[in-house]
Amino acid sequence: MGLYKTSAIVMKRNDLGESDRIVTFFSPGRGKIRATAKGVRKLTSRFSGKLETFSCVNLLVAEGRNLDVISQAELRRSFSHIREDLARIAAASYLLELIYNFTEEGGGDGGLYRLLFGGLAHLDEGGEIFLGLRSFEAKLSLHLGYFPALHRCASCLESRRISGGGYFSPALGGLLCAKCASRDDRSLFLGRASLEAIHFLAKTPFSRIGRLRLGLVEEDQLRNSLRIHLESRMEKRMMGPDFLESHVC
Ligand SMILES: [Zn+2]
Repeated sequence: MGLYKTSAIVMKRNDLGESDRIVTFFSPGRGKIRATAKGVRKLTSRFSGKLETFSCVNLLVAEGRNLDVISQAELRRSFSHIREDLARIAAASYLLELIYNFTEEGGGDGGLYRLLFGGLAHLDEGGEIFLGLRSFEAKLSLHLGYFPALHRCASCLESRRISGGGYFSPALGGLLCAKCASRDDRSLFLGRASLEAIHFLAKTPFSRIGRLRLGLVEEDQLRNSLRIHLESRMEKRMMGPDFLESHVC
């Protein structure tokens, strides 16, 4: 058992005993880390203000038999503007929940860490919330190898039949042409503009997604398809979406 250093983003906090807390982080090299912050709830704690949810920190951690123990924490970026707005809190919580559900302890992934950092920075800097969330979902699908097949029908493999759009089947992981749409009664229609938007949001840096203009129909199509697509790739339904809907994003 030894010490290790890592940067990390605070995902979750649970009170432990009178003054401690178990903090779950996401780190580039070790994936999810659960560690105890001793005395963190005391007013005089040396961790005071450093281990808030969404914060990015540098940690020195002592490996423990059951749980690791945080030895030092240095705040790198607090993402404090997110906490000033309920809609941004809901959106950032959704990003954390997605990462939480798709990662394991010990499963490091630098690309996923940069994606989470980028998504939080977008929300912290006042970036457009709806596009930020959809872009995060599309980039996450791409990064994890779940990006839906959108160029040809997932059933008959005809590309010509979906040139104007198609029926997106989360279960089959792609689009179905009109002829094959009945193969999945949960499929949702995605028009050509929505398909182009999904590609744009997956490939474009967060700093440039704000120039995308969507109609209400496309917004609806994107909101429903990307989230259900990711949900169908994880075992359980997320808590986030309902919370999100009640806060207008
Ligand atoms: Zn087909």
